[in-house]
Amino acid sequence: MKQHTPLKALEKISSKPHPRLTAVKMLSADTDTICAIATSPGKSGIGIIRISGPKCKEIAKQVLGFCPTPRNAHYCSFLDNNSEIIDKGIGIFFASPNSYTGEDVLELQGHGGFFILNRLLKTTISFGARLARPGEFSERAFINSKMDLAQAEAIADLIDASTQQAARSALRTMEGLFSKFINELVLKIIEIRVFLEAAIDFTDEDIDFLSEGGTKEKLIEIIGLLENVFQQAKQGSILREGITVAIAGKPNAGKSSILNAMSGRDSAIVTAIPGTTRDVLSELIDIDGMPVHIIDTAGLRNSQDIVEKEGIKRARKAIDGADIILLIIDVSSYPHDSLSVMKHFEETGLPQSVFQQGKGLIVFNKIDLLSTTDDLPNSVTIHNKEICCVFASAITDSGIASLRVALKNSVGFNLTEEGSFIARERHINALERTSDVLQSALNQLGETVALELVAEDLRMAQKYLGEITGEFTTDDLLGEIFSSFCVGK
Ligand code: GDP
Repeated sequence: MKQHTPLKALEKISSKPHPRLTAVKMLSADTDTICAIATSPGKSGIGIIRISGPKCKEIAKQVLGFCPTPRNAHYCSFLDNNSEIIDKGIGIFFASPNSYTGEDVLELQGHGGFFILNRLLKTTISFGARLARPGEFSERAFINSKMDLAQAEAIADLIDASTQQAARSALRTMEGLFSKFINELVLKIIEIRVFLEAAIDFTDEDIDFLSEGGTKEKLIEIIGLLENVFQQAKQGSILREGITVAIAGKPNAGKSSILNAMSGRDSAIVTAIPGTTRDVLSELIDIDGMPVHIIDTAGLRNSQDIVEKEGIKRARKAIDGADIILLIIDVSSYPHDSLSVMKHFEETGLPQSVFQQGKGLIVFNKIDLLSTTDDLPNSVTIHNKEICCVFASAITDSGIASLRVALKNSVGFNLTEEGSFIARERHINALERTSDVLQSALNQLGETVALELVAEDLRMAQKYLGEITGEFTTDDLLGEIFSSFCVGK
């Protein structure tokens, strides 16, 4: 009797060599024992040396005089190669595979002094370990399947998190929430691939595999799920990367005052003398969890003053590199209409098109000096395009909350508490490519002739999703990711 055809197709899909295995094989050839100072440099109460690899037990016997019972904290002396005491502290041994890296791991928790830790590190090296590369502990954890790539990246993101929400989301990714969504999508894609491969192999049979498998409906469902994951990943990417906002405008418009009002600190010097801000000043602020690098720039005007001219040059560079530009206009000196805004664009040389693309906001500042604040618009129209505007007073704080909301809206930041996870630009890119090939698969599904092409699109979709979790990666990519980690992680 003939084997059930979809099963045969499944065998076909799963019998293909697994690229991660190849990557893992190449990387796992390295069986050195590695060591590093895992705590940040400088003086601190505690400093930790982390060691991972097959020589851990041996090193423990040399440095501590014995190998500690796994997962037990032992208070002991740390000895150098002449059995002289370097420090006293806690030694913890984690036996493979129950450790961070999956290998034998030894942690020496001593005092956090530069000299002591370096002496301990050198001693460890003299007993056969070598200095770890940045991220090498996490790389080994990935190779030994203790975590996937997205989870490993989230550890670095957790360490780098600059807002509470970013830290929480990094923790969720580290715990596997993002990977869970990706793996669910991959399983659903495999399900379709099974039927598709069967349909390709058995075109002469009287079975309509495609409709039997509900292929089209399933594909539509996957595209919908992918869009959901994509939207969440975008929020996660903003949480991780943050946005850069440049404050620009004429001298004395209140740029420095707006920066101070938004950061809640007196970071920038505020004076009534035009041209005070000569250099670019940057502050990191938190808007509902979104990290915002806000930059105060020199007032844009024609100046003969050499220092001010250099400040304006730097201002233009900062403005060019910003995600969002805030054009500050002193509403007590200029009307709040399109003519006035256009005049500001002309005189400051700010790129009008950037504002029309939604990458710039206009802030009419000093509304406390207006006789009435009734009927103020929330946009100005220039060449038939609406540009969002906010009326504010840096002195009274009025309108600053609306400015925060407008900034969130301009980048589409809309974080919901449940389900948020951190993501990186490379994840967004992989999700976009997946979406493209799935769409292409759906478009071609109607034509039986193109079944091979549909199958190829689905294979690529699975591959792109696998890049996120590290199922499909290249050594170069892994090297690039882990080298950005800190040493000891
Ligand atoms: P910049 O040159 O654009 O950075 O402007 P500053 O922030 O240094 O402010 C210039 C002057 O305008 C200072 O005297 C500020 O106190 C004043 N100023 C700034 N914002 C406001 C505001 O909202 N209301 C009023 N009344 N004065 C403001």
